[in-house]
Amino acid sequence: MSFSERIYLPSILKGLAITFKHIFKKRETIFYPEQERPVSENWRGLHSLKRDEKGRERCTACGLCALACPAEAITMVAAERKKGEEGLYREEKYAAVYEINMLRCIFCGLCEEACPKEAIYLDGPIVEADYLRKDFIFGKDKLVEAPLKS
Ligand code: SF4
Ligand code: SF4
Repeated sequence: MSFSERIYLPSILKGLAITFKHIFKKRETIFYPEQERPVSENWRGLHSLKRDEKGRERCTACGLCALACPAEAITMVAAERKKGEEGLYREEKYAAVYEINMLRCIFCGLCEEACPKEAIYLDGPIVEADYLRKDFIFGKDKLVEAPLKS
């Protein structure tokens, strides 16, 4: 056996031993999205803009969530509710536009805490990877809860 073989052989055997040890261990790989990891009780996922028990949007575009946001990720445009829209929006003012820049958001939950109307919660799923920056600007189409089923 040459000098270099004598030096490297113990390391190779040690490496092989580690490999064989892991072959028989339980696999840690999670096959997302088919499999999902369990999440903790204080998990913060995607934001969801809530509806009330009559299916009306709770948000009144007061702007407190945007003020509380340390990442300045929230923007909105307020509008006045028109006659005949009482079934759509709970109060006289509502968010005609409500956007969250998910590239800025740090999922701190301060928007949820600041909301006096229980209109926003971070109880949605995980933010999925995408390719274009514009796809991370989430508008009402992605944020507002689905309408109630009648
Ligand atoms: S979770 Fe935090 S960073 Fe994200 S939008 Fe809400 S306040 Fe801003
Ligand atoms: S989500 Fe809540 S805090 Fe934010 S604008 Fe709407 S009502 Fe106000």
